[in-house]
Amino acid sequence: MKKWAMVVDVAKCENCNNCFLSCKDEHVGNEFPGYAAAQPIHGHRWIDIYRTERGQVPMVEPAAMPAMCNQCDNAPCIKAAKDSAVYKRPDGIVIIDPDKAQGQRELVESCPYGSIWWNEEKQLPQKWIFDAHLLDKGWKEPRCVQVCPTGALQSIKVEDSQLSNLVEEEQLEVLSPEHGTGPRVFYKNLHLFTKCFVGGSVAAEIGDYEECVEGASVALLKDQRVLSSDKTDHFGNFKFDMLEPDSGKYQVKVERTGFSAQQVEVELVESVYVGTIRLEAGVEA
Ligand code: SF4
Ligand code: SF4
Repeated sequence: MKKWAMVVDVAKCENCNNCFLSCKDEHVGNEFPGYAAAQPIHGHRWIDIYRTERGQVPMVEPAAMPAMCNQCDNAPCIKAAKDSAVYKRPDGIVIIDPDKAQGQRELVESCPYGSIWWNEEKQLPQKWIFDAHLLDKGWKEPRCVQVCPTGALQSIKVEDSQLSNLVEEEQLEVLSPEHGTGPRVFYKNLHLFTKCFVGGSVAAEIGDYEECVEGASVALLKDQRVLSSDKTDHFGNFKFDMLEPDSGKYQVKVERTGFSAQQVEVELVESVYVGTIRLEAGVEA
């Protein structure tokens, strides 16, 4: 049986908030019996956007990441619910029954992702329902996918085997896999949130001016072992990405024919711009 899943490409998210707003537009003041009671106008973010930035001026990378109920296959909210108030549909979507879940405040805490919100007025736990009410009417995708201008959100309905292949082929990740809940929301380019980079620029005195050095060989080393190598671009910049935060000391070694070699030491806590590494002309590397 085919089931729904979502693929979020963090690199494509422009932080426009359309997905968040489409969820508000769909649910605030609107009752969908059997699916979800109306969402309050304030306080709930069934689809939320997280934001971060990596690096320092002039090498700064902002990123935005939408997050929502993961429609988990091993959902703690289902286990925590009394009277089967939370259940998984055959198509993979997890629903909090708006009648049975009345008063079950403990469900808010049962979700390790913080995706369940408490409706004080209705005394009801609530969350994003993958627009199951629309899909059941024949919609081909949830509203958030429909309104996303960059294609950062992609809903798919696939067999488990197809999903496994896709995850492997595209190296998709889930948020906080250590929770072991089997999320059905997958992420591309999650490293923009979870990993670090070491970046910098290379320059040299050439004639009367300091110029960017293009095409310099830059190596990233750890314990004198080369982990990765790069060439500086037209602006003399280099960047090594996908590094673990708080991963200790690294060395950046720069070489360019006709210039002296330079090496700088980096203690990697979070993404870092090491500044401009200046080469001395006239001394062979
Ligand atoms: S609509 Fe798309 S681009 Fe805009 S915030 Fe949501 S995921 Fe990002
Ligand atoms: S993300 Fe939270 S609310 Fe959604 S299915 Fe998983 S445990 Fe339940």
